[in-house]
Amino acid sequence: MPAFWTEADYDDHELVQFVRDPKSGLTAIIAIHSSHLGPGAGGTRFWHYADPAGAMRDALRLSRGMSYKNAMAGLPMGGGKAVILADENRTKTPEMLAAFGDAVEALGGRYVTAEDVGISEADMVAVAERTAHVSGLPAEGEGAAGGDPGPFTSMGIFLGIKAAVKHKLGKDSVDGVHVALQGVGSVGGGVARLLAKDGAKLTLADIHHDRAEALAAELGGEAVPADVIMSVSCDVFSPNALGAILDDEGIARLETPIVAGGANNQLARAHHGEMLAERGILYAPDYVINAGGIISVTMEYLCRQHGEPCDINEVRKRIAQIPGRLEQIWQESDTSGLSPDVVADRMAQELIGRG
Ligand code: NAD
Repeated sequence: MPAFWTEADYDDHELVQFVRDPKSGLTAIIAIHSSHLGPGAGGTRFWHYADPAGAMRDALRLSRGMSYKNAMAGLPMGGGKAVILADENRTKTPEMLAAFGDAVEALGGRYVTAEDVGISEADMVAVAERTAHVSGLPAEGEGAAGGDPGPFTSMGIFLGIKAAVKHKLGKDSVDGVHVALQGVGSVGGGVARLLAKDGAKLTLADIHHDRAEALAAELGGEAVPADVIMSVSCDVFSPNALGAILDDEGIARLETPIVAGGANNQLARAHHGEMLAERGILYAPDYVINAGGIISVTMEYLCRQHGEPCDINEVRKRIAQIPGRLEQIWQESDTSGLSPDVVADRMAQELIGRG
């Protein structure tokens, strides 16, 4: 594995820890990018990397992303991320999760973990047996924060789409606004339902076409094949599946004045934000609009740390601030001429003391 400080993605990370426990077979990297605003918080990814250097890249890149995301969500948390390097069969054992919990505990609260790709709520419950520095655990009763972050992420994206429609199209409601959604899983499906309730016209696509068809039938929209969704002429294109879809080819295909959706890392390369702006397309920076889930899991963690019940309305109140933050970014973008992704990055860097 190459030295992390020579990696292009190394950005003055405060801690990069290699964890190896031969007994359980655990190999992991825990990275803390910034603790300026609080402990480094971000999920644990369980993934098989053909080249272990990819694991280091993910830990560095994703932990920096969490610094920005948490800062822009107004949370008292820094940015961190863990990556567990799975074998080819993706063998995951209770012993491995226990050893990982011990490694998180050994950091004494500097890093707070949660679910990410390949890690379930049940896995986090297992990790929580060894350390208290875990969020994303099941909600403790009716009206309490916690549990699946998906619906909270969807709520924030829905509010963000409304803000984008207001900013770009001058409309106060999404009634009759045509939204094309890529991916109708946990997040995209939730966004579609909220939009349908407010009278939006929906075009849905998913690589599992039957999923898109079933939801379109339920909500009264149209389902189209996954490979055409980016060319649908619409008012809003909402990516809620994969990252890196906004590349040269993807942007050229878009027939929309707005891109606003929850998928992480939508811009394939940094210059693609500018390319969207040059085409006159308003972009909602992904880590700002999709922060609803992290707001929920962080509030749950902070309440548990203080031994207090966590009111779900507090979570909703914070999610309701997402449109205001987006509006601030777009206004700054309009006055400075910088694309919204660059404005958001600069705001986040300012907030974490690296302006
Ligand atoms: P999910 O697995 O529930 O849903 C993803 C959906 O996208 C699936 O139905 C899948 O079939 C579909 N899909 C995959 N590739 C596709 C393609 N090429 N075209 C069309 N559809 C495709 O995942 P999710 O939790 O809904 O997350 C969706 C995105 O949002 C991911 O990028 C994730 O990182 C991001 N995100 C999720 C959360 C959360 O709270 N779950 C929070 C922040 C960001």
